[in-house]
Amino acid sequence: MAKKKAKKKVSCSQCTGLCCRYMALPIETPEDREDFDDIRWYLVHRGVSVFVEDGDWYLNIENRCKYLSKDHRCKIYDKRPQICRDHKIKDCELTHDEFDYEMYFGNDKQMEEYMKIKFDNNHLHHPRSKSKLKKRIHKKK
Ligand code: SF4
Ligand code: SF4
Repeated sequence: MAKKKAKKKVSCSQCTGLCCRYMALPIETPEDREDFDDIRWYLVHRGVSVFVEDGDWYLNIENRCKYLSKDHRCKIYDKRPQICRDHKIKDCELTHDEFDYEMYFGNDKQMEEYMKIKFDNNHLHHPRSKSKLKKRIHKKK
């Protein structure tokens, strides 16, 4: 009889506190070029990325919590914020092999490329858009 494969048990004591090293905040879904350019501005900052999951947009900031100790424990465990208490190990960063992002932008260049495809390709052969662009450049002088 084939032996059942033992389920791998994971506990926080085996982890370096992966969930205490970033913040993911929901942001408004961008609609126009200006909105996407605002996101590009987020992405010029170090440690910032943006991802889309289940249609929702998130700003991800890599920034270690100041209460994560050198041995990866929470220094304020008894009074840690509710959001930390609600974070469950079954869906956490250590137990999930991969996150199912629909889109991921790791830096401003990636957003720039995306914006070119999303906005500029549709306008490249449109003469009115070109003249608008010229006007803008002119105004900036
Ligand atoms: S919840 Fe997951 S990511 Fe957070 S410390 Fe525990 S095992 Fe690590
Ligand atoms: S307060 Fe504690 S549990 Fe919450 S992020 Fe900081 S170290 Fe982690």
